[in-house]
Formats: sequence, structure tokens, C-alpha cells
Amino acid sequence: MYKEIELTVKPEYIDEYKDGYPLICKESIADLSRLTKEGTIVNLMDSKKKFIAKGYYGIQNKGYGWVLSSNKDEQIDAEYFAKRIKSAIEYREEFFNDKETTAFRVFNGEGDGVGGLTIDYFDGFYMVTWYSIGIYELKDEVLKALKSSVEYKGMYQKKRFDAKGQYLDDADDFVCGTKADAPIIVKENGVNFAIYLDDGPMVGVFLDQREVRKTIRDKYAKGKTVLNTFSYTGAFSVFAALGGSSKTTSVDLANRSRSKTEEHFSINGIHVESQEIIVEDVFNYFKYAVKKNLLFDLVVLDPPSFARSKKVTFSVAKDYVKLLKEAIQITNRGGVIVASTNYANFGMMTFRDFIFKAFKELGGKYTVEESFTLPKDFRVAEKFKEGDYLKVVFIKKVK
Ligand code: SAH
Repeated sequence: MYKEIELTVKPEYIDEYKDGYPLICKESIADLSRLTKEGTIVNLMDSKKKFIAKGYYGIQNKGYGWVLSSNKDEQIDAEYFAKRIKSAIEYREEFFNDKETTAFRVFNGEGDGVGGLTIDYFDGFYMVTWYSIGIYELKDEVLKALKSSVEYKGMYQKKRFDAKGQYLDDADDFVCGTKADAPIIVKENGVNFAIYLDDGPMVGVFLDQREVRKTIRDKYAKGKTVLNTFSYTGAFSVFAALGGSSKTTSVDLANRSRSKTEEHFSINGIHVESQEIIVEDVFNYFKYAVKKNLLFDLVVLDPPSFARSKKVTFSVAKDYVKLLKEAIQITNRGGVIVASTNYANFGMMTFRDFIFKAFKELGGKYTVEESFTLPKDFRVAEKFKEGDYLKVVFIKKVK
């Protein structure tokens, strides 16, 4: 049994928690000094010692922990986690039955009732990500629950503990079962991806962009020249090439991006030589493209929220308008820019304002063709809509 303590919620926050708000905010707790050890189970009480909700203490950039239950008698044990995991699996039945897609999210934090914990599925392997020391303290119960709820080839884990969600590279990511090949090949809508489960913070693909990739392949790529910026392992380029693009150009600063992108082309039967892969700072590439009068029909912009290269520090919140303006200038009239961000601290409306501003400043005109937020497997909590961090807009450059 885990230690449980009582915490007093300030009066002005009580209604929020009663209404189901899942994040335990530092500001809402009157007696913070009672919190000493992460992983402690906390009972949120009003000043008259009446129970409101139960959660755990775990420090993340977002807050001080997550609510787990509104039932005061709930035991936070393997049985509790198994209940949550089973209902998460049920919610994703169509994914488990889909032979064309063998990589998806099985458990999405507070969207599935346990903030700070995600579980991804890669063709029989499970990847558990712990977002705080607090949830990691509960790992024995969580893993026991997962093992009893699924058939698995093997399990892996990633620790993202510090306030910025940085990956902690202190140990082997392998947990149990059989070890995965490096890489294993998974499928997404029939397309192959090479996944490395034990090779640093990222495994090779961001699963939340699945619908965007499919849309590019099925509706936007045919006959088009495609520029994929911040291309990582080239996932967007592969989908564009399979959708019949005339050529893709992938640009990423990281050296590894070349071999990873080549690998993704070749495991999908695409001629690597017919595609261009450029290892360079995107901002330099934009300058080069302008100088050479290069124009593209489809430009994908999916930068990290923060990036530091030798010369520039880029932050999505400050610099997206500038980034868009650079992209607009090398997009053909009638071409499409796929503008994307996973930055959680502004919403779709602010993002749409960035787009408006970028075109206005250039005297251009555009239409929005379609937009995307998180897909179904990245389940969002009813009372925590800000958990839907993804914003993707397909913008057609009219002028
Ligand atoms: N769009 C990718 C994911 C991008 S991850 C996908 O869908 O798979 C962010 C990538 O941006 C990383 O691969 C990183 O190497 C790259 N990056 C960061 N700063 C950059 C810069 N200034 N120029 C080019 N690439 C950069």
C-alpha cells in the first residue's frame, strides 16, 4: 500500500476539481509543504475535511500531479491501473484490428485517466513513457497492470522527468519480454516505418501525425514538388512520394536524418536517388532557395517548439510568423503549406492568427483547406481540452 496524505484545496479551486479537472495545480493547494515525496497518493480535501478527489504527487512542467479518482475508497494499485488500461484498449479496438496500421497510442495520459503516463504500441511491443518521478514511483503497479492486460512481445520505457520533459538517458530502455530488433518495421496505413525502441529519446516516428501523413499522400501529393522542412526521419516525404509526388526534398539539421530518411525510402520501395535529402539548417536553406528562385507546390513546416542551431534560437511562440513568411515565399501560387506545431501553450486560434499575420505582412492571400488536431488514439480528457496540443493547418497560397 502506498502512503496517502491529505491536502487542503483553496476554496476558489474546489469547484474545478469537483467538476473533474484532472491537473493538480500548485496554486490550488493550501498546504504544499505536506508534499515531500513524489509518488505519494494525495486526497484533495476542502477546509472542512470533506473529500474531493484522489491523485498522485508528481512534478511536471504542467503541475504537481494528476487526479486519479473521485472515489475516496479507490485503492491506487495494480487493479486500479488495469481497469484504466483495459478501458483504454477497448476504446482503441479498431486500431488493434487494423492490419494496415500497427503503431498507435494505447494510453494517452489524463485522456485515459492517468496523467503523466503514456503507452504506445509498436507491432506487439509496448513503449511506456513516464513523465514524472511521481508516476515512475508507481511503476511496479502500472507494469503489473499492463502485463496482465495485454499480450506482448516486449516492453520498453522512456523517462522524461525534468520540468522540460527532457529524456533521461541513464539506463537501458528495455523492461521485459523479448528484445526488439533494431529496427522493427511497423506499418501505418500500409506504409513501413523503421522503429528503434532503444535508441535515445525518439523512436523514429511521431504517431500523432498519422492522419496528416495520410491526407498528404491521398489528396495533396500527386504530381507535386514537395519540400519537407524539419524532416527528422522523412515520414512526411515518404507519404508524399508514395502519393505520387514528382520529387521530395527533405531538410533537417541533424546528421542522422540522412541515413534515417534513406532507410524510410528504401523500406517502402522508393528510389532514394530520385529524392533529395539535405542536412542543413532550415533557415539557411530558405535563403538558398530564395536565391535560386526555387518554388515548391507543397511545403511541410513541422518545427520543434524550441530549437537552437549555431546561429539562431527558434521558438515557435515567437518565430512562427517569420517561419511562415519564409515558406510562403518559396511556395508556388496555388501551392499548399502544411503548417504544424505541437506547442501546447497556445491554441488553434492563436495559430490561425499567425497564419493571417504572415500573409498580411507579405500582402498575400490564402484559403484554409483543412485542419487537424490530435487523432482518436491520442485521447483528450473532456475537462482538459488543453491536452490537445497538436495544430495542423493546410493553407493554400492564392496570391
Ligand atoms: N516533422 C518531423 C518531426 C520533426 S522533429 C516528423 O514529422 O517526423 C524536429 C526536427 O527538427 C529534428 O529532427 C531536428 O533535428 C530538426 N531541427 C531542429 N532545428 C532545426 C533547424 N534549425 N534546421 C533544420 N532542422 C532542425
